[in-house]
Amino acid sequence: MYDYLIVGAGLYGAVCARQLTDAGKKVLVIDKRSHIAGNVYTEKMEGINVHIYGAHIFHTNNKSVWEYVNRFSVFNRFTNSPVANYKGELYSLPFNMYTFNKMWGVVTPEEAAAKIEEQRKAAGIDNPQNLEEQAISLVGTDIYEKLIKGYTQKQWGRPCEDLPAFIIKRLPVRLTFDNNYFNALYQGIPVGGYTKMVESMLDGIEVRLDTDYFANKAELDSQADKVIYTGPIDAYFDYKLGNLEYRSVRFETEVLDKPNFQGNAAVNYTDADTPWTRIIEHKWFEFGKDEDGNDLPKTVISREYSSEWKLGDEPYYPVNDEKNGKLYADYKVLADKETKVIFGGRLGEYKYYDMDQVIAVALDKAAELLKA
Ligand code: FAD
Ligand code: UDP
Repeated sequence: MYDYLIVGAGLYGAVCARQLTDAGKKVLVIDKRSHIAGNVYTEKMEGINVHIYGAHIFHTNNKSVWEYVNRFSVFNRFTNSPVANYKGELYSLPFNMYTFNKMWGVVTPEEAAAKIEEQRKAAGIDNPQNLEEQAISLVGTDIYEKLIKGYTQKQWGRPCEDLPAFIIKRLPVRLTFDNNYFNALYQGIPVGGYTKMVESMLDGIEVRLDTDYFANKAELDSQADKVIYTGPIDAYFDYKLGNLEYRSVRFETEVLDKPNFQGNAAVNYTDADTPWTRIIEHKWFEFGKDEDGNDLPKTVISREYSSEWKLGDEPYYPVNDEKNGKLYADYKVLADKETKVIFGGRLGEYKYYDMDQVIAVALDKAAELLKA
């Protein structure tokens, strides 16, 4: 009946569905959740598009992916510029001249560079071996102590000395007055929310929600020539080699009867004592306005808590360590033997993909399938 059954209505599934349908294939998309869009799902509360599974900022250097998403939504000019709150002291992120000026009173890039060099030398670090040493050698001891140490330990649940140096290298350090958190050429938030964008991707395609693939696998399989599976790879094989681990996040979302709680989309709490890592105020992704440009009277905030993951919790970030890497490789051997099933996306490939990356791999996969 169908050429393709697509398990998962997230970005990977939606992009494959669009491309295959446009090439004349008959496609059925299912998702066990009661909504489309996977983890980029946004839901309207008090006129505000709330990012239910964590804040999502679209950013990319890939021009063709940027043009692709712009077919399905208009993007606004949002630029991610989080603020760090250390015991009531506010600093600009990522680390830049505003941060250095606030921390040390330095005014020129030379003064800032000299201050960092002085602190790096005093700490005696030449060849950083862990996150603590890497952070101090990049930005000095003061910034490490106030803006990195507590936040990182809360986020990863272990001391900075025990974490790999590369994690902190993701953050830009700039000797310019530039608060843009990302180094991407293109950035923004889809106007009207991500759900609306994915709805537009799935326009005209049959979608069945509240449908768990495993509850009815044999029957669903019998209806399609091929299956594109975007759920967890270990779940597909009934965890027979053991379960892959994830890092989890818990969100506490609240509607507040005031127009402005923190004046910014993201505020990171960088001390060790505040239990949450950051607070997202969703309306500022769209400049506090509804689609007609009116100010919104209320606000919605989400506190984010980093938490240990256990089987049954929502899988968020794959854990990039040796143990999980090896287990994934073993599952991949099994996956490659399944002739009818293609495994894709963040959970199907157990890979931390940003949205633009997941769209790029889905576009490639759809093109490959259409060529075969
Ligand atoms: P998903 O969105 O997870 O979709 C998989 C779908 O499969 C789900 O809807 C699930 O319900 C469904 N499914 C699973 N099993 C079954 C089953 N048995 N039967 C039926 N359906 C099933 N990226 C950015 O570019 N910028 C950001 O700012 C950003 N922030 C992020 C913040 C957080 C907290 C997280 C976790 C990720 C963030 N990302 C961000 C990454 C982004 O979320 C992913 O790139 C993207 O959502 C991956 O899409 P996907 O289709 O692979 O997976
Ligand atoms: N980080 C920090 N303080 C901040 C923001 C980030 O110390 O205010 C560190 C933290 O270790 C984090 C890393 O920088 O894991 C990378 O930051 P990013 O925002 O990419 O974190 P993610 O949420 O993607 O892990």
